[in-house]
Amino acid sequence: MDVGMATALVGALSGPALARGVYQLSVDAGTPARGTCRHCGQPLPRGGVRFLLWTGRCGYCRTLLGPRVWLVAIVAAIGTFAVGHRLGNDPVLLAYLAFALGCVLLAFIDIAVRRLPDQLTAPLAAFGVVGLGTASYLARDATPLLRGLIGAALAGGLFLALAWIRPDGEGMGLGDAKLAGVLGLYLGWLGWADLTLGILAGSTAATVFALSMLRTGRLTRRSAITYGPFLVLGAVLAVLVG
Ligand SMILES: [Zn+2]
Repeated sequence: MDVGMATALVGALSGPALARGVYQLSVDAGTPARGTCRHCGQPLPRGGVRFLLWTGRCGYCRTLLGPRVWLVAIVAAIGTFAVGHRLGNDPVLLAYLAFALGCVLLAFIDIAVRRLPDQLTAPLAAFGVVGLGTASYLARDATPLLRGLIGAALAGGLFLALAWIRPDGEGMGLGDAKLAGVLGLYLGWLGWADLTLGILAGSTAATVFALSMLRTGRLTRRSAITYGPFLVLGAVLAVLVG
């Protein structure tokens, strides 16, 4: 069986837990994660099993909370399929699975509240450096790790510069730069072509989307665009095509 099919199953089964994570972490900056229903205020079901079997609804008033579980499951399955299909039976696949699931969380949170919380980006970056560093050490080859670190600096630096040029109104923020850095690390580890394709495809998709929204009048020049999901989309494309 293709490793991609197995990892896609892992992604799909993670859907409920990811959807609940999205609901709980979709809060404004500086606000603690949600632990209650936003409609009736009752606490969310507790315990590991309840977390894994999240239905996307409040257990008391049945209000829909957060994104649809099936949608998150499908997106997670696509992301985890991409890394499994690409890497196969490689120990580094573990790091990439965590990366894929983390990106799904970030993309949905960005859509919900237009921010990419550091509490997710930072562990994803740390996990990447440790995981990819270990893989490099075991393979006695530092080249992919170095390429990843350079990729992180290039991609993060590029988006940092863009955020600096257009400080507000265009939606490009520090969160996007940090996510771009994390994507640069993981895509750079795979290769220069993957890094270039991923960042270019993500930026192009975001630009095309923004222009089409401007043309149809659904977006004004001052409205913010969420870049996170587009960057993640570009990364998935690069992993699949590369
Ligand atoms: Zn409720």
